[in-house]
Amino acid sequence: MSSVGINFVYVVSAALFIFGLKMLSSPATARRGNMISALGMLIAVVVTLLSQGMDYRWILIGVLIGSAIGATGASMVKMTSMPEMVALFNGFGGISSLLLAWSEYHQHPEMATGIAIIATISVFIGGVTFTGSMVAFSKLSGRISQKAIVFNGQHLINAAILAVVVLSGALFCLIPGSTSGYLLFILIVLVALGFGITSTIPIGGADMPVVISLLNSYSGLAACAAGFVVSNNILIVAGALVGASGIILTKIMCKAMNRSLANVLFSGFGTTTAKGSSEDGPQGEVKPASAEDVYYILEAADTVAFVPGYGLAVAQAQHVVKELGDLLEENGSEVVYAIHPVAGRMPGHMNVLLAEANVPYDQLVEMDEINPRMETIDVCVVIGANDVVNPAAAFEESSPIYGMPIIETFRAKTVIVLKRSMNTGFAGIENALFYRENTRMFFGDAKASIQALVSEFKGSN
Ligand code: NDP
Repeated sequence: MSSVGINFVYVVSAALFIFGLKMLSSPATARRGNMISALGMLIAVVVTLLSQGMDYRWILIGVLIGSAIGATGASMVKMTSMPEMVALFNGFGGISSLLLAWSEYHQHPEMATGIAIIATISVFIGGVTFTGSMVAFSKLSGRISQKAIVFNGQHLINAAILAVVVLSGALFCLIPGSTSGYLLFILIVLVALGFGITSTIPIGGADMPVVISLLNSYSGLAACAAGFVVSNNILIVAGALVGASGIILTKIMCKAMNRSLANVLFSGFGTTTAKGSSEDGPQGEVKPASAEDVYYILEAADTVAFVPGYGLAVAQAQHVVKELGDLLEENGSEVVYAIHPVAGRMPGHMNVLLAEANVPYDQLVEMDEINPRMETIDVCVVIGANDVVNPAAAFEESSPIYGMPIIETFRAKTVIVLKRSMNTGFAGIENALFYRENTRMFFGDAKASIQALVSEFKGSN
C-alpha cells in the first residue's frame, strides 16, 4: 500500500476517533461512540500491520495473549472495580510506549538529536505512567494502603529525581549511539519507573480516580511521542487525542471537587482521617425511619429527587430504583435523578448504572440544574451517597472537603438517606446531613430497602 493510501486510511481512523469521542459526551450515544472509536482503531491497526511487511507470527501471539487477558478481565470486572481496571490498562499503555521507543532506539542507536529527545520523553512518561498506574491500581484494589504516604523532604526527593532525568536525558541526547549513551538511556528508564512510584504514593485513595485520569493523559502523551520516534502518524494523532481528553477530564474532576490539580497531587489529602464537621461533631439527633414511614412520605410527595452515590453501585440497586421511580410516577410524582459529577468511584459511574436500568436520559439532572430548585423538591432520596451530599463542604471551613460543590439535599423539604450504618464515605468525614431536622435515616442495604418500598407501593394498590 502506498504511503498516500496509508495516510488516507489513517485520516479516516482519526475522524472515527473524534466522532467517537464526541459521542461519549452523552449517555445516549456513548456506547455507539465507543464502538465507532474501536472500529477506527481496528482499521488503523490492520493497515499498519499490512504496510510493515513484518513477521506476523509474533504479532498473532501478542494479539491472542492480549485479547485473552483483555476479554477475561473485562468480563470478570465488577462495575465497582472499573477504575482499577482503567488504571491497569493505562499502565499497559505507558509500558507499551516505553518499550516501543526503546526497541526503536535499540535498532537505530545513532538517532538524530531531535528524535533522541522525543524518545527520552516517551520513555520517561511511559515509565512514570506504568508504575504510577500500578500504584493507583494497588491502592484502589486494597492491595496496598489507600492512605497518602507522606514524609519530610518528599518533594525535595521528587525534585532531585526530576533533575537527574533532565541531566541524564540531556547527556543521552548528545551521545545516543555510544555505550555510555545506552547506559544513560537505561538509567532514564529506571528513574522513570521509580518516579512513577514516588510521585503517586503521596496521593490518597480518594484522589486516585483523578490521578488515573491524569495518568491516562500521560499514557496518551507517551504514545504520541513514541509515534514521532517510529514515524507513525496515527499513533501521534491517537496519542494526542488521549492526552488531550485525559487532561480535560482531569480538569473537570478537579473542578467538581473544587480543588486544583496541584492540591490533588501535592497536598497529601487523606493522610489523616477527619472526624467531625465541627469540633464536637455534627449536632442533632438521628431519626431512623421504617419502610412504612418512608412509603407514607413518598406517597404524598409531588416531586422526588433520587440522589445516588457509591452505595448504589455496591448494592446494585439501579434496577429496583427504576422500578420505584416508575411506581412514583404512576402515583403522580415528578421523578428526577440528580447526578453529582464525582458520585461513585469513577466519572460517569452513576450514569452508567442508571443507563443499565433504562432510566430515561431526560430524567437525569446535573448538580447545577437541581441545586437552584432544591427548595421546591418535596423528598430527596439519597441512595448510598455520602460525601457528595455532605453540608460540611458548604459550611465547615475546617473540613477537608470544604468548597467541594455538593448536591444540596439539605435544602429539600424532606431528605431520606438510605445506607447501612452511620459510617463515613470515601473521604472519611462525618456527615451533618444525617442529623438534620428534615432528615430521616432508612438503614439497610440500599437494594433491600428500595425493594421494601416497592412492596409497600405494590401492596397498597
Ligand atoms: P461515598 O463514598 O462518600 O459514600 C458512599 C456511602 O454508601 C457510604 O457512606 C456507605 O455507607 C454507603 N453504602 C455502601 N454500600 C451500601 C449499600 N450496600 N447499601 C446502602 N448504602 C451503602 O460516596 P459518594 O458517591 O457520595 O462520593 C464519592 C466519593 O469518591 C467522593 O469523596 C469523591 O470525591 C470521591 N471520588 C470520586 C471520583 C469519581 O470519579 N466518581 C473521583 C475522585 C474521588 P454505609 O457503609 O453506612 O452503608
